[in-house]
Amino acid sequence: MIPATRLTQELIRFETINPPGNETPCARHIGGLLEAAGFRTSYIPMGPNRDNLIAWAGGSGNKLPLCFSGHTDVVPLGAAPWAVAPFGGDIADGKIYGRGSSDMKSGVAAFVSAAVSLAPRLEGTPGLVLIVSAGEERGCEGVNLLARQGVLPKAGAIVVAEPTANQLLAGHKGVFWLEGTARGVTAHGSMPEQGENAVYKAARAALALEVFDFSEDVHPVLGRPTVNVGWMRGGLNVNSVPDEARLGVDVRLVPGVDRERLIERFRRATGGGVIFEVMGTSDAVWTDPEDPWVRDVSGVVQSVTGAAASIGGASYFTDAAALKPGMGNPPTIILGPGEPAMAHQTDEWCSIKRIEEAEAIFSELIVRWCGL
Ligand SMILES: [Zn+2]
Repeated sequence: MIPATRLTQELIRFETINPPGNETPCARHIGGLLEAAGFRTSYIPMGPNRDNLIAWAGGSGNKLPLCFSGHTDVVPLGAAPWAVAPFGGDIADGKIYGRGSSDMKSGVAAFVSAAVSLAPRLEGTPGLVLIVSAGEERGCEGVNLLARQGVLPKAGAIVVAEPTANQLLAGHKGVFWLEGTARGVTAHGSMPEQGENAVYKAARAALALEVFDFSEDVHPVLGRPTVNVGWMRGGLNVNSVPDEARLGVDVRLVPGVDRERLIERFRRATGGGVIFEVMGTSDAVWTDPEDPWVRDVSGVVQSVTGAAASIGGASYFTDAAALKPGMGNPPTIILGPGEPAMAHQTDEWCSIKRIEEAEAIFSELIVRWCGL
């Protein structure tokens, strides 16, 4: 048995900045603990030194296993200097410091610790499946690979332990990344009236997107979709009329928005001057908060944390977008000890109290799911 707090420190000490990731030593360390506790493991590489880990324990014919999932990669440190050692896992004032402490090595540690302590009692029960992914921070590459390879097992419910400060979230927005291209006609910069300026078209499109009307797309919990023009490029030299300009558009979708139709709506809103192309997309995730298991989890969270359980949604996206459809579309929640506001921050930390609470919550979820 290993307390989740100590395991969080150990996992922070594996430097897994993505890119390049190098998640394998961290994944093998977790796998070793699980194997020693009786779990079966499988490592699925997404590249050199980039293992994903799937681990199982128990399993019976009449009920699917409970799944916990988290990623081992972390984002770069950023330009600002750190006041603490980013890979030290040092403890001060009831907090563990380091890159990945909140996002999300504490979450992985909490479910691995709970799974290891309960492992001796899992034989002959519905059991557990743990998905420890690589490459989450750059578009969920690890779990997308597992889904494509068809190696994701079916699960009865999924807990993604991303940072929520132990608040129960029933889903999150999806992503729809577009690239818009405006074309014009080049001319000498001294005679702009003879050309057609693509930068002006792209700029008008960006300003139209800023005020795009999403009022027909409101979700009761996740709210409205958002749109952000993340980059814009156009023109080659100061003394020519530019004949091409491009913009990158980041849309965060709520469930139920028709993506093809949205492109058409964008086209109309921007006056037809820009052609949009899809660069990437990931589904929104939503589980009915009235689902019996979600209500049960809500009761467990409330009894452990003492906080009134209101069920919300996350603005960021997670591996759940691939796991939920890939594992048979079971009820899926986002729940973990990390502080959402600390994710990707300088001097990132996680509260030890939250880690202990998460381990207690996850243990209780396993006990109830497996009838221990
Ligand atoms: Zn994360």
